[in-house]
Amino acid sequence: MDVLQTKESLAKELTQLKGQGRTIGFVPTMGALHRGHLSLVDCSRRQDDVTVVSIFVNPTQFNRRDDFEQYPRNLTSDLKDLEEAGVQVVFIPGEAEMYPEPDHRTFDFGQLDKVMEGHYRPGHFDGVAKIVSKLFDAVQPHRAYFGEKDFQQLVIIRDLTRQMDYDIEIIGCPIVREPNGLAISSRNKRLSAEQRKQAAQLSRVIFQARQYADRYAIDQLKAWVVAELNKNSEMDVEYFEVVDEATLTSVNAWSDAYYKRACVAAWVGQVRLIDNVKFYF
Ligand code: AMP
Repeated sequence: MDVLQTKESLAKELTQLKGQGRTIGFVPTMGALHRGHLSLVDCSRRQDDVTVVSIFVNPTQFNRRDDFEQYPRNLTSDLKDLEEAGVQVVFIPGEAEMYPEPDHRTFDFGQLDKVMEGHYRPGHFDGVAKIVSKLFDAVQPHRAYFGEKDFQQLVIIRDLTRQMDYDIEIIGCPIVREPNGLAISSRNKRLSAEQRKQAAQLSRVIFQARQYADRYAIDQLKAWVVAELNKNSEMDVEYFEVVDEATLTSVNAWSDAYYKRACVAAWVGQVRLIDNVKFYF
């Protein structure tokens, strides 16, 4: 496994591999790797000749400095996991490599970045678009893999790819969960045992909401989900939305869209968690 820190060394290695006719799959991450990330690696390994993983905690997508500083970092064990997973190339640039000068670009995603995460984390998706576009330019993969865990991000990256005319196939991969249903996240490490138990309610309640959905009007269902989750002493729901999967606009009646996603964000103590589930009916 080659671990590279500069765009120049990465380009050199990838030019050689592409010259041999090998396809390149790319998995961008912020490290502190877990089974969710490794499932993306697995997807790539099945489809591509070479899998490139990047590890970079991107400062421009954090709207709170303390969240950036407290973000878990675990390079030694990350590299071990990637080696065992059969990754050929790991890109671990420093901040100066990715942002040699401030990146003042702003992106126009229309409605897509105005709602949900975009509403509660202003500037977050501009930061994501900045780093993903820089990484796409550096790697120029055939395919790139993103988790449905960050569903809004996946939709926005598809839009970014279309807008910037990247010849990259964007693959969305299913959410990997703990046995109790909690969507795996690097942030889960910051939960206490009791908070972990309460965090598991997040998926339990949204799956239950899907089961009963068509018996209720959407507004009623939303109110039920929020009330049910807020019963947990450590939990504070930020939003629960049912949106059209393509446009991310709120669905007001079940018949407004066939492909719907129910998305939730909640604080459990000091940790902000997100989750989502398909609502296809
Ligand atoms: P991050 O390191 O949090 O930026 O995540 C890197 C990639 O892993 C993103 O595409 C995430 O959506 C994906 N990811 C994170 N957690 C999970 C999970 N539990 N299941 C599937 N994909 C995930």
